[in-house]
Amino acid sequence: MPTYEQEAKSILRKHKKIDSWFISNYGMNLYRGCTHDCVYCDGRAENYFVKGDFGKDIVVKKNAIDILRKELDPKRKRIPLKRSFILPGGGVGDSYEPIEQKYELTRKTLKLLYEYNFPVHILTKSILVKRDLDILQKINNKNKAIISFSFSSVDERISKIFEPHAAKPLERLEAISFFKEHGFNCGMFLMPVIPFITDTPKMIEQTIREGVKAGIDFIIFSGMTLKEGRQKEYFMNTIAEHFPHLQLEYENLYRENKWGNPSSEYYETINFTFDTFSKKYKVPKRIPAYLFNNILDENDLIIVILEQIDYLLKLRGYKSNYGYAAYAISKLDTGISNIRSEIGRINGIGPAIRKIIWEILDTGTSRYYEKLLVS
Ligand code: SF4
Repeated sequence: MPTYEQEAKSILRKHKKIDSWFISNYGMNLYRGCTHDCVYCDGRAENYFVKGDFGKDIVVKKNAIDILRKELDPKRKRIPLKRSFILPGGGVGDSYEPIEQKYELTRKTLKLLYEYNFPVHILTKSILVKRDLDILQKINNKNKAIISFSFSSVDERISKIFEPHAAKPLERLEAISFFKEHGFNCGMFLMPVIPFITDTPKMIEQTIREGVKAGIDFIIFSGMTLKEGRQKEYFMNTIAEHFPHLQLEYENLYRENKWGNPSSEYYETINFTFDTFSKKYKVPKRIPAYLFNNILDENDLIIVILEQIDYLLKLRGYKSNYGYAAYAISKLDTGISNIRSEIGRINGIGPAIRKIIWEILDTGTSRYYEKLLVS
């Protein structure tokens, strides 16, 4: 595989506000490009600026560990880093893609995160993560480590076509059981489901059922985006080769959307299917609060729970202003308990949301949210 070593100027990427999908304020890419070469990968899209052949040419940030050490060191910080999970992988590479065997940037990053007391969330399609059991266990005992695997389905034949160099779905499921046996909390990212191929009720149910059997603690679901340009061309070539009868269906589904989103009617259908089966198997549809409520500061905790409520209501087709309230809280420059009695004056926070915020401040969670998560 062609490899290009590069000097990076920075590694940690701070999000504008906490990401409630991953419970993370920071992401990083140690590699750019990914030889797992998933056909649907949106890291291939032009807006990520990955040069060369995405599935073959890998850029390695060879000074990543030196830079990261400086970025994590509290003595060098005027404002301390926020506590939340750090993801060693980003959208343009898998932290355990094959090149990690040679460079070990992910392993070295984990050692630093252990040293500087950060919780970690791993998301991968590779079983190479088992190599790092020792350091992950130390992080899990000290601060917490969540291990998640992503899937588009558990169908081996379809995975071979769309995720040609990732670990087989069965290997990923076995790795989930392996980490569960070693005391970790584990998640399944069922994202993306591939339209007309892995988004059928039968496939979605099978994937959730197998995930639950393996021991997952939560599942995160999403449809597939298909941006015009490299991503769409690459994907459509595979469709033309293996599923030529679906070409027109894809053209219709992804017609003229700047962000590469399928139609909203399509989302309603797959959301309904996902909601039905996650409910049937009683698996939380977001990372549950007990995995992070003693890690985040109070504002971030409230933002995450309100955003999760927003998602869970919209998943069922309801309107919601919880997302708006979360956004308003993300703009505060004080801890919310300092203005506890004045919360209702914040735009978008009515009596119902205010009550939920008070409950979160007092108990670390909300009964309404806990119910929505699994019902
Ligand atoms: S493993 Fe992730 S980053 Fe790598 S090609 Fe697949 S979807 Fe993209």
